[in-house]
Amino acid sequence: MDCLFCAIIAGDVPARQIHADEHAVAFLDIAPWHRGHTLVVPRQHVADVLEPSTALIDIAPAIETVSRLLVDRLGAEGLNLLVNNRAVAGQEVFHLHVHVVPRFGEHPGMRGLFAPDPAAGGELDALHALLTAAS
Ligand code: 5GP
Ligand code: ZN
Repeated sequence: MDCLFCAIIAGDVPARQIHADEHAVAFLDIAPWHRGHTLVVPRQHVADVLEPSTALIDIAPAIETVSRLLVDRLGAEGLNLLVNNRAVAGQEVFHLHVHVVPRFGEHPGMRGLFAPDPAAGGELDALHALLTAAS
């Protein structure tokens, strides 16, 4: 099976991982909508939430940990959790993933969620270092 996120989980494709546990891997999105935009991905290959599995439940602790990490380390004031399911809903990588999107006061609200942020895209290595430094 040719799956980008399975390849990232296997270590065959590089990614800026910020958290991992038994069930999930979390890494910075390569084209962030906002600073710290992260994807939380189940280790098990599941296409989407419509495929019967416990994947979404299994990755709940990782979603919570990553949410706290982003708020604490980046000073985010809030965040969005989003799952796109199937192409019609905007899914482009067909391995279930939760977008964890930190939000900051200068770009508030739902309408600002998807604004691509080139500045955030240009500081991925610095962000990765900040988010993985020992606390
Ligand atoms: P979807 O539209 O499927 O919900 O989201 C897929 C996400 O994966 C997009 O936000 C996209 O930027 C991200 N993405 C695509 N390819 C890569 C990659 O090679 N590495 C990383 N870190 N993110 C990727
Ligand atoms: Zn996969």
